[in-house]
Amino acid sequence: MPEITVTIVDHTNSPQLTPLIQKHLSDIFVDLLSTPSDVGVVNIRTTAIKPKADDQDLVLHFVENIANSYVAANMPGPPIKPIDGGVTRPGPNMTGSEFYKFPTDQNGNSMGQFKAVGYAKLAAHEAMHNVSGLNNDKLHPQGGVGGSPPHLPVNDANRKAFQAGLGKIPKQLL
Ligand SMILES: [Zn+2]
Repeated sequence: MPEITVTIVDHTNSPQLTPLIQKHLSDIFVDLLSTPSDVGVVNIRTTAIKPKADDQDLVLHFVENIANSYVAANMPGPPIKPIDGGVTRPGPNMTGSEFYKFPTDQNGNSMGQFKAVGYAKLAAHEAMHNVSGLNNDKLHPQGGVGGSPPHLPVNDANRKAFQAGLGKIPKQLL
C-alpha cells in the first residue's frame, strides 16, 4: 500500500486554520498516492515545534510571508519571487518546502487570506516539487496540483510523478 508520513510545521500561530488545511491536504495526498488497485495511506500531523529528523518522510513549513521565509533563512539561494505562494529549494544535503499565509501578486501586493483548501493546494504543489524532484519547467505543464497556480482535481500526471518519487524522498529541512 503506498504510504506517506507528513509533518506541517506551523510558524504562523494559526491553531484554528491548520486543522482545516491538514484535512484538505490529507485528501489531496490520498488521491496522489492512489492507484487503480490501491488506496493511499496518509499519516499527517501539524506541530508548532521543530520535528525530529526521522519522524516523517516530508516536512511542509507554513510561514507568514516571503519576508519571513524559513527556507531562505536556512538554505541560501536566489530571491523568492513575490508571486510564489510557496517555495521548494533542493540543496546538496536536504530539500526545504514552505507555503505562505499571506501570498502576494507579482507586484508584491497582498492577495488577502485564502480559504483552507487554497492553502492545501499551495502545500500540495510544493510537496509535488519536493517528492518528485521536478523543477518548475517540468512540473508546471502537468496542470492539476502540479500547475502554477495549482488546481484540483489531481490528475494522472501528478499521481505518476508523485508515486515515482516516493521511495527516494530527499532529506528534509526540519
Ligand atoms: Zn511550482
